[in-house]
Amino acid sequence: MLDAVIQKLMALQECDARRDNIQSQLERIPIEIARTEQKISQEKEAIEAAKKTILELEVRRKDIDIEIKQAEEQTGRYKNQQLQVKKNEEYQALQHEINDMGLKISDLEDSEIGIMLEIDEATDLAKKEEEERNQSIKELKTLISKREQHREEFQSELESADSAVKSATAELDEESLRVFQYVKMKAKRPPFIVPLEDQKCTGCYLRVPNEVKTDILKAGKLVRCINCGRILYSA
Ligand SMILES: [Zn+2]
Repeated sequence: MLDAVIQKLMALQECDARRDNIQSQLERIPIEIARTEQKISQEKEAIEAAKKTILELEVRRKDIDIEIKQAEEQTGRYKNQQLQVKKNEEYQALQHEINDMGLKISDLEDSEIGIMLEIDEATDLAKKEEEERNQSIKELKTLISKREQHREEFQSELESADSAVKSATAELDEESLRVFQYVKMKAKRPPFIVPLEDQKCTGCYLRVPNEVKTDILKAGKLVRCINCGRILYSA
C-alpha cells in the first residue's frame, strides 16, 4: 500500500520537476531577450557615436575654413590700405600685419590638413566598425527570434507537463499531497522522496534513528528524514 503511494509520489516528483524546469527556462527567456536588446542598443549607439565624432570634426574643419577666409579678407583690406598710405612707417606697419596674417593662414591650413586626415581615418574606421556592428546586430536579432521560438516551444511543453502533474496529482490522496508540497517547500530542490540506505537518508546523507527505519516498515504512514525532511522509503 505504502509502496504504491511512494511510486505515485515519485511519478509526481518527476513530472513536477520537469514542469518547474520548463517554467524556470520560460522565465529566463524575457530576461535574456531584454539583455540581447540592450546589446543591440549599445551597438547602435556606438555606430551613432562614431558618426557624431566625424560630424564634429567636419564642423571644426568648416570653422577653420571660415577663419582662413576671414584672414584672407583681412589681408586684402590691409593690401588696399597699403595702396592708400603715404608714409613709409604706415606702409611697413601694414606689411607687418599682412605677414602676420600670412603666418596665421599657414597655421590654419596646417590644422585643416590635420583634421582632414583625422576625418579620413575616422571615416574608414567607422565604416569598418559599422559593418562589424551591423553584423553583430543581425546575429543578436537572430538570437532573439530563436528565443521567441523557444518560448513557444516551452509554452506548449509546459501545457503537457502541467497536465501530467494534474494526472499524477489525481492519483494521490490529500494527506500524501500535503506532505509532498511541504517537503518540496522545505527541501527546495528534488529529490524529495529518497531511499534509506544503511540507515542513512540519501537526500542529506545523514544517519537517522532506528525508529525511522522501523516506521518505514510499518505500512500506512509516510516517514520523513528528521534532518532534511525528505520522504524516506526502504531501499
Ligand atoms: Zn535527509
